[in-house]
Amino acid sequence: MRLILKILGGAIVLGLILAAIALVPPHLQVRSVEPALPEVVDLRALLSVENGPVRIRYVNTSSQVLPQGELAHTVFLVEWANGDLFMIDAGMDRTAAVEFGKLMESALGAEEAVSHGTIVELLGEDTMRVMGVAYTHLHIDHTQGTEPFCVARGSGASVFQTSWQRDLHNFNTVEGAGVVTDSCLEPEKLGEGTIMTVEGFPGIGMVALGGHTPGSTLFAVAIDDHLWLLSGDISNSKADLQSDTGKGFLYSYLLVPENTARNDILRPWLGALDAEEDMTVIVSHDLRDIAKSGMAEYSR
Ligand SMILES: [Zn+2]
Repeated sequence: MRLILKILGGAIVLGLILAAIALVPPHLQVRSVEPALPEVVDLRALLSVENGPVRIRYVNTSSQVLPQGELAHTVFLVEWANGDLFMIDAGMDRTAAVEFGKLMESALGAEEAVSHGTIVELLGEDTMRVMGVAYTHLHIDHTQGTEPFCVARGSGASVFQTSWQRDLHNFNTVEGAGVVTDSCLEPEKLGEGTIMTVEGFPGIGMVALGGHTPGSTLFAVAIDDHLWLLSGDISNSKADLQSDTGKGFLYSYLLVPENTARNDILRPWLGALDAEEDMTVIVSHDLRDIAKSGMAEYSR
């Protein structure tokens, strides 16, 4: 009996040591991504770009009621006067959404996830107007919907990624990265600088953030006199951003290897931008905050 306990204890300790060793490389990798952040004045310069987009809307592809708030898997659609659409993130199909939701039920005590359909079912004919695609980061809940998108869309749309997002992967971005690589999307280069321009889509700027994943990216979108800042998953709720609250040890060290020092810089930086009168920071999963942000929900 003592021997069995000793062997069992030894196996648990060995398991923990192996897990810790396995987590070192992804932590070192995400900590290597700390590019300079843009000045407010440079972000604001997007507001005077010619032929910029005319509107931005969000699509709620699936949602789940949490003990506090409501978690949604959102897609953002930016539209130009000529009808071109630029899609940021892709949500998930029904099966993936329900599967992912189960994870949230056990981890966060969430209610059952409700899928509202694939992005293609939600966009209908507008799918064919999507000319550019990009991702706030490559976690599967932001990328899997690319598969049904490509089945419907075929060729003709481009994908825009920072080099960090394209090249640096860990155990929970590698699947999403594969979805993008194997997709119908044609890779296109970005402009240089801290605010990377997107050829063919004036008025959008991409900023490499890191923090949450090596490839986490901010999208700044200028509509009329307002700058929408899509911040992905740097925080899981707007309240956490505003109160400068991190995600905790379990999340940031074990579940998702994050650069917590970088997130500690990004939260107040984004919080300060959100406090500017002409800017609104959007947190990808915070449905209730998005609904009251003034951004319109997409409807056909
Ligand atoms: Zn996410």
